[in-house]
Amino acid sequence: MKYTLGAALILQSSVALGELLHVHLKAPTTAHFRDIVRNDTYDFGCRPVAHSTDDGHFTLHALLTEDQISHLTKEYESVDEITIHRQMVKRAATAPIGTGDRFKAGTVSPVGLGTQASGTTISSIMNVAEVNSAFNALVKNYGVGSVTLPYKTFNGATSYAGFVGAGTDKSAYRLYFSAGVHARERGGPDQLLYWISDLLAADKAGTGLTYGKKTYTNTQVKSILAAGIVFFPLVNPDGVTYDQSSGSLWRKNRNTKSGSSGSSIGVDINRNFDFLWNFRKYFDASESPASTSPSSETFYGTAAASEAETKNHVSIYDTFSKVRWFMDIHSAAGDILYSWGDDDDQTTTPTQNFLNSAFDGKRGVTGDTVYKEYIPAADFTNIKNVAAKTVAAMKAVGGRSYTAGQSVGLYPTSGASDDYAFSRFWAKPGANKVYGYTMEFGYSTNFYPTLSEFNQNILDTNAGFMEWALAAIAVGLD
Ligand SMILES: [Zn+2]
Repeated sequence: MKYTLGAALILQSSVALGELLHVHLKAPTTAHFRDIVRNDTYDFGCRPVAHSTDDGHFTLHALLTEDQISHLTKEYESVDEITIHRQMVKRAATAPIGTGDRFKAGTVSPVGLGTQASGTTISSIMNVAEVNSAFNALVKNYGVGSVTLPYKTFNGATSYAGFVGAGTDKSAYRLYFSAGVHARERGGPDQLLYWISDLLAADKAGTGLTYGKKTYTNTQVKSILAAGIVFFPLVNPDGVTYDQSSGSLWRKNRNTKSGSSGSSIGVDINRNFDFLWNFRKYFDASESPASTSPSSETFYGTAAASEAETKNHVSIYDTFSKVRWFMDIHSAAGDILYSWGDDDDQTTTPTQNFLNSAFDGKRGVTGDTVYKEYIPAADFTNIKNVAAKTVAAMKAVGGRSYTAGQSVGLYPTSGASDDYAFSRFWAKPGANKVYGYTMEFGYSTNFYPTLSEFNQNILDTNAGFMEWALAAIAVGLD
């Protein structure tokens, strides 16, 4: 086996036991990764994604401990085609977390990059208090509406969602954004709050917005606001508080119901939604779309929507009953993902759907003919086209390229927010149809961006939000 372990000895002497190391696996086909991905003790980020390389191979990024690397190395010793590579590129220091309150107790509004001169940068990531302070400043200075969400987190935090652009009638709101589900994915809440600030500032000043080489007119800004935006900037405040204080790449919430120490604490909120949540029942036994183990990064919780964060997220659909488009902001991959996430999409056999118990135990194996998830052809065209436009705009900013794809990719997930959004129409009588997306900003497993990456991510995602919203409006809001 041709491992690239040249620098291993240098690293081993400087890393703490249990520390997560950035690695990628390389293989000639994505099928080579299948067994590895099914191991729920490995950390593949939001969800495992294989990317094609220039030399016709595929890479799968992961965060692994030294023990896990040596285990995998041994396990695949006889498989020449799969190689394990450590990320040895020396990176600049990661962006700092703000230490004070730049928004002065909710009195000073955030100012985004779209309304400032090219080359302007933001010097740190918002701490949790600053996220709340920025939110309060938008409420105070721009009259943004605020909803106190009904469930306190495990550590007692109260969460808020804002609504802006379509007046006081909550049934007039069509676009829903959320961020901060996975704690370590730094910059998500910032991107959302700075973007909302940009829209409001441009609207007030009668100007457009500029993100790198991508520009938008004041008319476009006004049309996006008029669609009505609901935003939930920090879904997982307990997790983010812990991650920012520990620098431990913490992903889950901090609920201790299923485990009280180390990695056994917490639930993966993005496997906790009520969509095929009980994966052991719904999926093929060989698949691991989530985990029943509390110490896994994808621990699914104790019941569908058992977590306060998940319940708060869902409550927004009840409060804003006509939301039509949903975007969950994650990192790190460089993708826009659309439904479905449980199996390959198909548009021809309506009976093959997530509600049909005849297919329990058969879902999740991609590339087979046993089961594929039904999506009406018109919906498939709509969601795909909007995703394509979104990545084109993000690329046009001039920083880097992004890809669009179905969220299942090669490996299924259960209980994710984007699938939950889309599934409601069929699962809950009377529920509005919601197209659900996940935006994965940043580079693979690069959860803590450098300052330069943090600023580029703001430009890229904000252009992406603009284009996604405009494309959604063009497709239709009702
Ligand atoms: Zn994530």
